[in-house]
Amino acid sequence: MATKTRKIANKFESPLWRDKTLAANALREIEKLVSAITSPAGKEINLMEVCGTHTMAIAASGIKNMLPKGLRMLSGPGCPVCVTSQGDIDRVLETAALKNVIITTFGDMMKVKGSAGRDLQSMRRDGSDVRIVYSPMDALELARLNPGKKVVFIGVGFETTAPAIACAVRHARREAVGNFFVTPLFKLVPPALEALLSGPNNIGGFVLPGHVSAIIGSNAYGFVADKYKVPCVVTGFEPVDILRGINMLLTQIARGSPKVETEYYRAVKPEGNPEAKKILAEVFTVSDAYWRAIGRLAATGLSFSGKYKRFDAFSRFRINYRESPEPKGCRCGDILMGKALPKECGLFGLSCTPSNAVGPCMVSSEGACAAWFKYGG
Ligand code: SF4
Repeated sequence: MATKTRKIANKFESPLWRDKTLAANALREIEKLVSAITSPAGKEINLMEVCGTHTMAIAASGIKNMLPKGLRMLSGPGCPVCVTSQGDIDRVLETAALKNVIITTFGDMMKVKGSAGRDLQSMRRDGSDVRIVYSPMDALELARLNPGKKVVFIGVGFETTAPAIACAVRHARREAVGNFFVTPLFKLVPPALEALLSGPNNIGGFVLPGHVSAIIGSNAYGFVADKYKVPCVVTGFEPVDILRGINMLLTQIARGSPKVETEYYRAVKPEGNPEAKKILAEVFTVSDAYWRAIGRLAATGLSFSGKYKRFDAFSRFRINYRESPEPKGCRCGDILMGKALPKECGLFGLSCTPSNAVGPCMVSSEGACAAWFKYGG
């Protein structure tokens, strides 16, 4: 018994584990529950995290490797750069090629390749004005400082990112900044879960993102448990939060009582953040969105509503959507749908590495392939 306790304690040596006792207790419970659920038939349990930050935390803290046999973590459509369709990446690059335009973006988008093999980084080398910013308000400031240029912010993200961008757009409208635009490539988490669950799948439970849920509220996932009978736990980002979330999911599975629970109760309320939801509803309207390797999904994205339509960069510059092929051999789409693991892609670690990435799951710092490459599977 002493040896087993020592072995468990050794797993939490990394400073990422701040409360080692809590973590050891959660892992012990997980081991017991997995053993009870999977025996005697040798059943496999697949849980999916739907958040790039969770994907990275699971890999960096070693959770993936400490989970007992029979329990597998899948990375779902939670990395915003990864889920952006190839056609939309091409539209971003087309915008960057326009004269008199300054492209502003978060750093993760710089190395995502379009179908012709170009990316924002190489376009900047060749003369396009592409700048990394840390907030959409920085992009708005650039627009104020450069009235003779058109400043486009690459709006990519989920419900977490969209409110800050909506705030910047609202400021721009109030101040009548006429040269500020955004590419509305936002995605919504609940309809993405519905899309995953409405087809064949092997998902036994969801580890749900704490930051998105702080905005939309845990009530937004009610349909997952009610209609699809799949357990849900909203979890924080410390490794111990994630272990506790997994433990709560397994408890639901063992009891056969799917529901929506919140482990991250210090930040997430059932109703979410009313102010953030209000500004989202003012600036955006729910619309169809194009997902990588999945295609167009009805009512899974956000576009500008009424008086904010003029901020849509693609409409302003008449850049229409065209289907574009996925990078040859890349299985990002399957990985995002929980149908493959990074190691099952034939290019993983060979022709696709972080320094020479083929697909966005290896480019993004939150991508599943990047996590596997950096920390091992
Ligand atoms: S390893 Fe590279 S090519 Fe393969 S799925 Fe991941 S990103 Fe795509």
